[in-house]
This record gives sequence, structure tokens and C-alpha cells, in this order.
Amino acid sequence: MKYPKLRELAEAVKAVVKGPYTSKFPAEPHVPHKNFRGQPVYDADTCIGCLACVEACPADALAYEDILEGDGAPKRVMIHYTDSCIFCGVCEDACVRETGEKGIVMTNEWNLAYFDRSQAFETSEKELQLCEVCGAVIGTKDHMIWLAERLGEMSFSNPTLYLSRLKKLGLADDNISTVLEDDGRSDRVKILCAECRRKTSVYTDE
Ligand code: SF4
Ligand code: SF4
Repeated sequence: MKYPKLRELAEAVKAVVKGPYTSKFPAEPHVPHKNFRGQPVYDADTCIGCLACVEACPADALAYEDILEGDGAPKRVMIHYTDSCIFCGVCEDACVRETGEKGIVMTNEWNLAYFDRSQAFETSEKELQLCEVCGAVIGTKDHMIWLAERLGEMSFSNPTLYLSRLKKLGLADDNISTVLEDDGRSDRVKILCAECRRKTSVYTDE
């Protein structure tokens, strides 16, 4: 007969006194350890929709879709596929926002079972900034404003950035739904995509 080692004996006694190590889920809700690393979640208030996390995700668990048609303003939908995520934390690490203001944050959420796998995703939306001349997507409005604030007075050399900041401050009209077909010099002081900025800077009306 084999006798239990002292360590196993100590564990058995401890289990009798302290109760079992396992939880009674699903009979009772399971509370994970405070350091458990579960799924990441987008914070719609702090995320600026810059896509750095999408680029960094090693499991292709993050994606986005730009929706230009339909009701309401054009928007970017950030998508997190919970069934592909490996909970590695790279997205939070790669987020361009400062610690304490991260746009995507690791949580200890672990209960991610779905009956229908096509439902295993979560989304967050950001309003898009379109080029005022050709209507192309430049980025999200929050991304433009974040860039302008980070650059400070250096952003004054870029009309797209300082106009974004002025609109945020309510000092300029928000008329991006008016898409004009005009590549002339008169369009320079507008919110423009890189291609229209090049055209209005290089070409003249004559
Ligand atoms: S935790 Fe890792 S796998 Fe999951 S979304 Fe973030 S980067 Fe991608
Ligand atoms: S702000 Fe952070 S979470 Fe939002 S898109 Fe950029 S990198 Fe991703």
C-alpha cells in the first residue's frame, strides 16, 4: 500500500477545513480571481477608432467596418470576435491612448459561451470624418481631434486637423454632408483626404 505524501495530506486537511477549490458553477455564479485575464472590451468614450489595436491583434479577433450609407452619420464599427480572441492583452498594450484612458481594456469576463457562433462578437461605434470634397473616409472624428490635441500648435499647418479641432470647440460649422465637386484653391481650407489635399495644393483653377 502506498502512503500519501505529507504535502498531499496537508492539502487534504486544508480542503476539509477551507472547502473545495472548485466553484459550483453553473449551480452558483463563478467569481474569477481578481487577476484572471478574460476578454477585452472597447470603451466607446475613450476609443478614438484609430485601428492600431486591429493591426496588432495576433489572432485576427479585431476588425472594423466603415458604414457610409443608411440612416444617421457615417460611422466606423469596431468589432471584437470573442470566439477568436486568445485574451493575450496585445490590443490593450498597443492602444495609443494613455494608461487609464485605454480604448480597449482587458476584463475578467470569462463566460463567453454562445449557442450560435455567428453571435460571438461585440461592437463599438465611432463617427467618421469624410473628405469635404470627394467624400472619402479620412478617419474618425475623434481620431482627428486627438491628433490635433497631441500636435498642439503644430496642427495649425494642417487645415484638416485644425478645422476638426474648431468644429469640436463649436467655432466652425459641421457641414461634411455637403460634398462638393471642386478641386480648386478655394477648397484648401476644408477637411480633405490626402489625395484632395494634394490636388488643391498642387493644381490651380486656371
Ligand atoms: S486579447 Fe489578443 S487576441 Fe484578443 S483581441 Fe486583444 S490582441 Fe486580439
Ligand atoms: S484608441 Fe485604442 S482601442 Fe481604440 S482603435 Fe485606437 S488602438 Fe484600438
